[in-house]
Amino acid sequence: KSGFISIIGRPNVGKSTFLNRVIGQKIAIMSDKPQTTRNKVQGVLTEQDSQLIFIDTPGIHKPKHKLGDFMMKVAQNTLKEVDLVLFMVNAEEGFGPGEEFIIEKLQSVRTPVFLIINKIDLIHPDKLLTIIEGYKEKYEFKEIVPISALEGNNVERLLETIKDYL
Ligand code: GDP
Ligand code: MG
Repeated sequence: KSGFISIIGRPNVGKSTFLNRVIGQKIAIMSDKPQTTRNKVQGVLTEQDSQLIFIDTPGIHKPKHKLGDFMMKVAQNTLKEVDLVLFMVNAEEGFGPGEEFIIEKLQSVRTPVFLIINKIDLIHPDKLLTIIEGYKEKYEFKEIVPISALEGNNVERLLETIKDYL
């Protein structure tokens, strides 16, 4: 199984930490360099039975007012062309304009979208249920997966679930 996966989400939600854990230090460091090209490969996870290719979507992480129409189109096209979108949010922070902006962009996309609730190591499990219920009202996510990219909780299971959609 193989496919292209775009990880989107506001700055600091843990996208790089997740990639680091999944793919390894070297490539993730590369991905933090300023990026000018579109659809940049952030890392590739190759296993015996699968290949997951993680793609950056420049433009979709940034607030609306800083973006030109062209950049926005590029970002939106990337989301349409990948096999799966991982929308990562921070469990510690509430739903804000950054999340609203991204969900708005997702409305016109038919690509399956997972909600990844990261940093669950920082919250009480009771709070997680409230977060999940809130997000279910906003968008029809194919899967909602709580993880800790830092500690690794549930990351392996997420990778298995990703493969089920490829
Ligand atoms: P990005 O901007 O989305 O790429 O976010 P980063 O991966 O750079 O992470 C931002 C900060 O959040 C860093 O200080 C990370 O160590 C921290 N972080 C990322 N994932 C987790 C997590 O699962 N738990 C905790 N406690 N911190 C995390
Ligand atoms: Mg990053």
